[in-house]
Formats: sequence, C-alpha cells, structure tokens
Amino acid sequence: MRLILLGPPGAGKGTQAQRLVQKYGIIQLSTGEMLRAAVAAETPVGLQAKDLMANGSLVPDKIVIGIISDRLDQPDMKNGFILDGFPRTVPQAAALDELLKKKHIKLDAVVELRVNESALLDRVEARVAEMRARGEEVRIDDTPEVLAKRLANYRTLTEPLIHYYSERRKLLTVDGMMTIEHVTREINRILSAIGAVEPKGGAKAAAPARKAMKAARKTARPAGKKAAKTARKAPKTAGKAGKAASRGVKKASKKAGRKVASAVRGGKAGKAKKTGKKAVGKASKKVTKKRAKR
Ligand code: AMP
Repeated sequence: MRLILLGPPGAGKGTQAQRLVQKYGIIQLSTGEMLRAAVAAETPVGLQAKDLMANGSLVPDKIVIGIISDRLDQPDMKNGFILDGFPRTVPQAAALDELLKKKHIKLDAVVELRVNESALLDRVEARVAEMRARGEEVRIDDTPEVLAKRLANYRTLTEPLIHYYSERRKLLTVDGMMTIEHVTREINRILSAIGAVEPKGGAKAAAPARKAMKAARKTARPAGKKAAKTARKAPKTAGKAGKAASRGVKKASKKAGRKVASAVRGGKAGKAKKTGKKAVGKASKKVTKKRAKR
C-alpha cells in the first residue's frame, strides 16, 4: 500500500500514519521527522533547514524531494509506505509523480484529513502538553505564532494539492474531526473499498461475486448533492459487478460546518472498479470546485 496523508498541522496525520504502520507493516515517511533528525544531527541539510523550520517556513522543494527520492530507493520500501508531510507544494507533487514513474511505483491513494481550522490550535496545544507529560522535547514550531504561519502556508501552498490529486482521481477525503478511533476506522474502510488492502476476513473466504457484493455494501460519501447523485448513478452503468460499486450519501460535518467528503472508490472487479473510480473522480472534482467557489 502506498499512500499520501494530506492535512494541515494538527489534523492528525502523524497519529493516523502510526496506526496504519502498525496495522499494515508499512513505513511512515515523515519529511518533518527526517528534517528534525537532520537538524539534531547538524547535517548540511539540517543546517539549511533549521531556521526555516523554526519560523514555520517551508524548506526548499529541492531538499525535500532529494530526501524522499533517496528514501524511496531503500529496500524497506517494498511493502509500501505512507508519506506524511510530503508533498507540500504542487512542484513537490509533480516531482513525486516523476519519481514514482521512474521507480515504477504506483500510488494507491491520497487521504485528506479535513478538519475545522479553529480546532487546530487546541489540538497542537494538546500535543505540546502530551509531549511535555512524556518528558519529550517540545517542537519549537508548536507555538501559536509559528502555527499561524504554518497554517497560512498550508492554505496557500499545500491546499492546491487537493485539486491536484482530485484531478488525478486519487483523492479520498475523511472527516478528521471525528475521534481518532473513528478516523482510523474510516481510513481502513475506504482503503478496503478501493482494494488497497484486503477487507477483514475477505479475500480467502469470499468468492469473486461475494467480494463484489461486499464492496457494494460499503458506502461512498462524496460531498454535495450532485456528487452523491453521480456516485449513485455508477451502479446502473456497471452491470452486475457495477452494482457493487459506489453509492453516494451526503454527510455534513457539523463541527466543521463544512461538508466533508469521504469518497470511496468501490467495486472489486473489472468494470465495477472502473466505474466506481469514475464516480469518485467526479465527486472529488466537485468538492474541489465547490471549495474554489468558496
Ligand atoms: P511537519 O512535521 O510535517 O509539521 O514539518 C515540520 C516542518 O518541516 C515544516 O514546517 C517545514 O518547515 C518542514 N517540512 C516538512 N516537510 C516539508 C516539505 N514537504 N516541504 C517543505 N518543508 C517541509
């Protein structure tokens, strides 16, 4: 499984990445962690990154792309990975596409954790308190002032990636305002639905038809009425297996006050899978368009 976790600081990317690591035995690649290690070890990269990180600026694309490229070449990558904190800009995403193509690696999905911005400061404060309680060193960029800058950077430089991956039909959005447990469950559910992981107890027991039906029961939640309609249409055009594909339901995140899409590319076989993907692609695009309008 090869994933990207996308979301602002405090969205819970690190927490969810660790859970995925434990469940699927894949590697978490956090550019933030790698850079902090480089700063601590005072390597040339660390020395270049130190001040930028401390004031909440991004480290130059070239540096992080180099770090990721080297890391992807290592043998422990073969079981899969989760990119956490990378890519963070459109040029980084384009460079990653190139790298993956060159290395013959296929990305399964980009999971966006959508959160209410007003909750982020509280979350980061909670993280600081927990780190202090564990006797760990607190990140110097976890202050309200620096957080404000990191958030502004996220909005201007990283948020365009939502459109980028939605266009490429890779984007799956999860309501990150739910409890940690709920978010984990939702991520696992959508990963099963797109076939990135085996559904619990699924593969061995289920005959192909049953597998398709199982996928059918899983619901897709594209944002907005139109998107939901698009997803609902999918089964009609996909024949038998297609009935197993996406169904759309609308879900509003009350806390966030924003619509949250949890798009699932459903369907386990042939056409169904393609149709499901198509539906989600459309749904994702609509989410992006909606945001652009806002
Ligand atoms: P994080 O741990 O992901 O919050 O990252 C901490 C800091 O490391 C960020 O504020 C940036 O200064 C730097 N950083 C991490 N990942 C990247 C990236 N992909 N591109 C540029 N800077 C990064």
